[in-house]
Amino acid sequence: MSAGERSRELYRRACRLMPAGVNSPVRAFRSVGGEPLFIASASGCRITDADGWEYLDYVGSWGPLILGHADPEVVAAVSRAAAKGMSYGAPCAEEVELAELLVGALPHLEMVRFVSSGTEAVMSAVRLARGVTGRDVVVKFSGCYHGHADHLLVSAGSGLATFGIPSSAGVPASFAGHTIVLPLDDGDAFQAVMRDRGPEIAAVLIEPIPANAGLLEQRPEFLQLLRDKCTRCGALLIFDEVISGFRVGPTGAAGRYRITPDLATYGKVIGGGMPVGAYGGPRSLMEQLSPLGPVYQAGTLSGNPVAMAAGIATLRRLLAEGGAAYRELDRLGARLQSCLQAAFDDAATGWSVVRTGSILWLSLQPGPPPRRYEHIDAGVAIRYARLHAALLDRGVYLAPSAYEVMFLSLAHDDQAIDQTVVAFREAVRFAGIRTSS
Ligand code: PMP
Repeated sequence: MSAGERSRELYRRACRLMPAGVNSPVRAFRSVGGEPLFIASASGCRITDADGWEYLDYVGSWGPLILGHADPEVVAAVSRAAAKGMSYGAPCAEEVELAELLVGALPHLEMVRFVSSGTEAVMSAVRLARGVTGRDVVVKFSGCYHGHADHLLVSAGSGLATFGIPSSAGVPASFAGHTIVLPLDDGDAFQAVMRDRGPEIAAVLIEPIPANAGLLEQRPEFLQLLRDKCTRCGALLIFDEVISGFRVGPTGAAGRYRITPDLATYGKVIGGGMPVGAYGGPRSLMEQLSPLGPVYQAGTLSGNPVAMAAGIATLRRLLAEGGAAYRELDRLGARLQSCLQAAFDDAATGWSVVRTGSILWLSLQPGPPPRRYEHIDAGVAIRYARLHAALLDRGVYLAPSAYEVMFLSLAHDDQAIDQTVVAFREAVRFAGIRTSS
């Protein structure tokens, strides 16, 4: 698929002005080839590009738009708020209301602090964990993404218990040296690190539903092991629920697995498409933040009323009617999963469609879906690139990377799913792809 004339023209202009023409790397389509579409508008489950072509959208702005694009109630709430002032830099009622929604829904949260992105939420939660424990080391898991803070842009060193190495230029080795990277789903490696280095570890940080390198569903026992060992070692368990929070259910992954983290981070859905992040936990920890405590963190636009209004309208809808929204998302997810799986099976690909609630991932390799990043077959990228292009040609917009998931919204109705399945069957056939390719 080639982008239309208008998208191409915008891309040429953009490339002169912004690196690779984008403001976030994966948008540049580098891992699927071709050129990015420039989006002109979006409504419900559909986006329209600058050339007027319409696509069924499974990116949903990378997760926030659980109600769909330009949801009328969210748009009205944002418009009302904007008309009253874009930002005050002073407390406002909307912050209290969104905080009440979060604290009311999430039993492990007594207090929250709002920030403007998921990156800030995780970076700040880690600082808080270091501040309260007086320790420096953070354990993270390969394949989990936690935003672009220096000490979290780290890949595994050689050997399981070694300190990490920077995975981006510009990250000092000494910063990365405070991070230990372990494989997911490996209880032995984790226990060994906690045994050898437990007293140095401030926090164990995980996406409890890892969704940034495929969808690597973890065994509940593994997550419980993290909980137990953190408690024993005096390290804080941080659940990064920037994707899973209010996406997989009203209580996120913590509720799904009935595991209580010490701190949790949020973003995406809680901002309804506006820049909002949050981190929270028990009062005893959160009161260590400035101005009550010694851990500093601040933000010019934190808690701004327009962003809060989008979050409030989104969460109110999700939390209404005793979870009906999540039941519907689950129904749609199950239907899409089984239809896409049938398309893979009929073409004898051996691949699978992995799903947690309204998050789906195309695992383009044979065998059981991986639980570890290291178990993702290197060939998936090329297979995905062909499928991605064939789907774009048929009006279905997936994320431009094999490692990214698909997000469903409440605006994806059965008709949209039917249309997707027709396109998908054709695309699988057209792309003529097999596991061996
Ligand atoms: N944590 C997780 C789990 C994420 O998926 C992301 C973004 N995809 C982040 C943190 C960073 O959020 P943001 O892009 O809003 O900074």
